[in-house]
Amino acid sequence: MINFKTAAPNIEYADLHIHTSASDGDFSPEQVIKLCADLEIKTISITDHDTVSGVMPAAKAGRKVGVSVVPGVELGTNADDLEIHILGYFIDIKSTALNHYLTEINEQRLRRTELIVESLARHGIEINLDKIIDKAGNGTIGRPHIAKAMVEAGVVQSYQAAFNNWIGDGAPACEKKSRQEPAELIEVIHQSGGAAVLAHPGNQWTGESIRQLKRLGLDGIEVVHPRHTKKMEAAYRKLAFECNLFITGGSDFHTLKRKVNPLGKYKIDVTSVKRLKKHCERRIDAKY
Ligand code: AMP
Ligand code: ZN
Ligand code: FE
Ligand code: FE
Repeated sequence: MINFKTAAPNIEYADLHIHTSASDGDFSPEQVIKLCADLEIKTISITDHDTVSGVMPAAKAGRKVGVSVVPGVELGTNADDLEIHILGYFIDIKSTALNHYLTEINEQRLRRTELIVESLARHGIEINLDKIIDKAGNGTIGRPHIAKAMVEAGVVQSYQAAFNNWIGDGAPACEKKSRQEPAELIEVIHQSGGAAVLAHPGNQWTGESIRQLKRLGLDGIEVVHPRHTKKMEAAYRKLAFECNLFITGGSDFHTLKRKVNPLGKYKIDVTSVKRLKKHCERRIDAKY
């Protein structure tokens, strides 16, 4: 794995896309900080799905070892079969608007989990809802916890088989998530003082659809991401420049078991992070 310091000793880098056990990551916020400190990654963002509960513990642990934590979140929705993930950075994690939204989304997530359990039962697969809730702990409940409970119950061979055969997109027991308008996600991030960034656009997005999001208030694009080829990265950099959007990037780290999202490899220059912070501060100043 690349060590941030030896990779380019004069530039400081940041990894702005990291999940913890507060959503579907394998490591607690404190463990994530330790992994980052060992790799000398000094600026990170905790961007859990639909929760900010990992931010404070990470920030606290980070202060002790010199890892600075940008408060973040990853919100998701589907629009016309296109899955959209929006990252929020420099959000006020105590914001009423944000917490109201997150509470509602997590209630919907629980209802969706119940529907998936019922659907599995109709297919003859009995999974105890409480077991799934246990797996999620205090974190955002979702399909990864259902998959883990299915493995534990011995009804599938593996985590991946649970998705492939039963709960992956389009599989027999998959239930769609509730739909929010992309504008609503951007708005709630703005209401909490943060910047809204389109996560890993990959090859699903056209320049025009990103321009449309920009008109809704989008502040940036996640240009550096394991899903992006160098060519895609270059194209998104160009588009960001043309549309006056900020650039971000990160590993989308969840686990050490899969090699696709390694900590330490997908990163951006820390000056981009400072620019993003200034942008949020300017917007708050303009409001008051
Ligand atoms: P949810 O938020 O409940 O829809 O779950 C989404 C999460 O499930 C993603 O972030 C992935 O971690 C995981 N996931 C979704 N589809 C698959 C798949 N086909 N194979 C493995 N994991 C998946
Ligand atoms: Zn995830
Ligand atoms: Fe995502
Ligand atoms: Fe993510």
